[in-house]
Amino acid sequence: MTQNIIDEKNIHSILETTKSSPLAKMQEIFEKAKEKKGLSLQEAGMLANSKDTSLLLELFRIAGSVKEDIYGERLVFFAPLYISDFCVNDCTYCNFHSSNTGLSRRKLSLEQIEEQARFIISMGHKRILLECGEDPLHNPIDYTVHAIQRIYETKTDKGNIRRINVNVAATSKDDYIRLKAAGIGTYQLFQETYHQATYASLHRGPKADYQRQLTAPCRAFEAGIDDFGMGVLFGLYDWRFEVLALIAHAQFMEKEYGVGPHTFSVPRFRPAPTVTFRPGHPVSDSDFLKLVAILRICVPYTGMILSTRESPEIRKAAFKIGISQASAASCTVTGGYGSKASQPQFEITDERSLEEVIKDIISDGFLPSFCTACYRSGRTGERFMGLSKTGHIHTFCRPNALLTFAEYLEDFAKSNGVYVKGKELIATYLAQINDEAVRDETKRRLIAIAQGRRDLYF
Ligand code: SAM
Ligand code: SF4
Repeated sequence: MTQNIIDEKNIHSILETTKSSPLAKMQEIFEKAKEKKGLSLQEAGMLANSKDTSLLLELFRIAGSVKEDIYGERLVFFAPLYISDFCVNDCTYCNFHSSNTGLSRRKLSLEQIEEQARFIISMGHKRILLECGEDPLHNPIDYTVHAIQRIYETKTDKGNIRRINVNVAATSKDDYIRLKAAGIGTYQLFQETYHQATYASLHRGPKADYQRQLTAPCRAFEAGIDDFGMGVLFGLYDWRFEVLALIAHAQFMEKEYGVGPHTFSVPRFRPAPTVTFRPGHPVSDSDFLKLVAILRICVPYTGMILSTRESPEIRKAAFKIGISQASAASCTVTGGYGSKASQPQFEITDERSLEEVIKDIISDGFLPSFCTACYRSGRTGERFMGLSKTGHIHTFCRPNALLTFAEYLEDFAKSNGVYVKGKELIATYLAQINDEAVRDETKRRLIAIAQGRRDLYF
C-alpha cells in the first residue's frame, strides 16, 4: 500500500503530456475550480505548465474567490517555538544538521520553555507551533509531551496559549498516541521533497528513510490525530512535480482515511548559517504565488500556512489568493524570544512585530483571528471537513475571529491607530453575520470582552 502513495512515473508523465493545453480546456478547468470540489492531478499539471499571463491572472482571481468563499476574510496567527536544536539528522539545507559541530546546541528546560511561552503570550499570540530536532536521547517524546503540558499550564494576566500545533520528526504510532493525549492541535510534518532521488541525496540519519516520512500521517491518523498538516520545502526539486505529489498525498489520505490534510505548508528554502547548499530548483516569486493559487483551487478545503520565511510583499499577495494561517513575529532560534541568541535554523525575511503585521493586514480588509475554538470543541478531522464543505464552518469562524481579535485589541494593541481601525473592522464584519441570533450573541460577547471577560467562543 505505502509504495503506491506517490507514483513518480505517473506525475512525470502528466507533466510531460500537459505541456501545452488548449485555451478552451483551461477555461473548463477554471469553471470546475469555481465549484470548489477540487481538481485532478491532470488538471493541476495543466495549470502548473501554463505560461500565459492572462491565464495566470485568471488563476489568481479564481483562487482569491475560492479562498474568500471558504475561509472568508480571516487570517489566523501563530508563532513557532523551538525547544531543542539537538538533531541526529544531517539534512543538507538546515543549520541544525548533525555535522554542524560549531553549533552550541540547546535544549530548553521546562522553566525556559515557560519563559518563552510567556514571551509569545505577551506579544498577543494564542497559538504555538512547537518545533524541535530529532534526537531520541535529548528530545524523546516524553520531553515534547512535558513541554506541551508546561506551555498549556502557563497562565498570565494577558492570557495563555490555547492551541499547540506540533512539528516534530516522523515517529511511531505509540508516540503519536502520546502527542494526541497531550492535547495537540495539528501534527505537521513536511515531506521536504517527494522526489526520491533528491530526498536520498539531501538526507542522512533516520530521516533519510523516505517511506518513514511519507507514511507518518497514516500512523498519526491511526493514533487518533485527525488534524494533520503536510508540506514541501520548495526549491529542492521542480515545484511542479512537488505540487502534484503533495496533491496526490492529500488525495491518498482522503481516500484511505476519509479525511484530507488539515493544512498545507509551503516553506521556500532560505539561507542559513553553515548551510552552503543552494537550491537546485529555486522557485521565483511569481511561480511561488502560482503554486499557492494552484493548491488553493485543487484542494480547496485544506487550510494553507505561510511563514515569515517570506517577505511582507509576498505575504500580502499570498494572503489574497490562498493563505489562511500565518506566523508572525517569529524567532527560529532555540530559546530565542527576548534574547540575543543567534544561530537560527534558517533566516527569516518578515521581521515585523505582530502589531505591525496586523496593522498592515487590517488595511487590506483582512480580519486577524486568534481562534482556537474548533479543536477545543471537538470540531476536528472528518467533522471539521464536513462543516467546512457545507459552508457551515463560517457560522463559527467569523464570530470567533471577531471575539479573539477584540481580546487582542483590548490586551495588546499599543497604537491607538490599530485599536481604532481594529474596532471599525470588527463593526464591519459583525454587521455581515447573517444569522440574527448569532449576530446578537456575538455583539453581547464583544461587550463582555470590552468589560474584561476572556476566552469566549462558539
Ligand atoms: N526536525 C523536524 C523535521 O525536520 O521534520 C521538525 C521540523 S524542522 C524544525 C521545520 C522545517 O523547517 C523542516 O521540515 C524544513 O522543511 C524547514 N527548514 C529546514 N531548513 C530550512 C531552510 N534552510 N529554509 C527553509 N526551511 C527550512
Ligand atoms: Fe534536524 Fe529537522 Fe533540521 Fe533535518 S530539518 S537537521 S531533522 S531539525
